[in-house]
Amino acid sequence: MMEWIDVEKQCTGLDEKLIDRTKGFLDKDEGLRLYQIGLEASRLGPCLEIGSYCGKSTLYLGAACRKNNSTLFAVDHHTGSEEQQPGEGYFDPETYDIRQGRMDTFPLFRNTIIDGGLENTVVPIISRSEVAARHWATPLGMVFIDGGHTFAAAYTDYNSWIGHILPGGYLLIHDIFKNPDEGGQAPHYIFKLAAASGLFQVLSMTKTLGVLRRIECGELPEDLPGV
Ligand code: MG
Repeated sequence: MMEWIDVEKQCTGLDEKLIDRTKGFLDKDEGLRLYQIGLEASRLGPCLEIGSYCGKSTLYLGAACRKNNSTLFAVDHHTGSEEQQPGEGYFDPETYDIRQGRMDTFPLFRNTIIDGGLENTVVPIISRSEVAARHWATPLGMVFIDGGHTFAAAYTDYNSWIGHILPGGYLLIHDIFKNPDEGGQAPHYIFKLAAASGLFQVLSMTKTLGVLRRIECGELPEDLPGV
């Protein structure tokens, strides 16, 4: 008899065992929401994630893009964010390259993409997000921000990419903690910026994953005065 996991893998393209063994900080419910939104977004245009690390979120978004023969651009400098450096709380020795004398998560990311059968879907961009954005000109069905968690990094990711989201497309932001005792406030700060811009509809969150949808041309926000 075929196990449930095989049926799920056939339907979604998600390999739960591979997801479980891939390093990362993404909850399964958040990953499944990424997949669901990714299915809709990748019908509008290619998707882009910032902060791929070892590819856990890439497996969810890549599987969704693959279903629609779309593309996922995966932006990461692969040298780790502040809290992942040696001596910091989220450092993982397996991500450290002794020869380079610094972190390098790209070999692990590449293995994830190969194991996930996503080489014809995912385009890795090994770069800081603002450098990748400098000459970017492709409209996007989704931008997922999960990069550095300083205010400077989060604001830079937000400012560099929101202009490329198609009308009706999605902006997703990871690690939103409304209570400062639970986590850093930079992702929450850019979430509030987007919500206050009047350009996005705020959809329900999944755990720490914030979801916004770019309002269509001619569509009016529900809270517009006089509407
Ligand atoms: Mg994250």
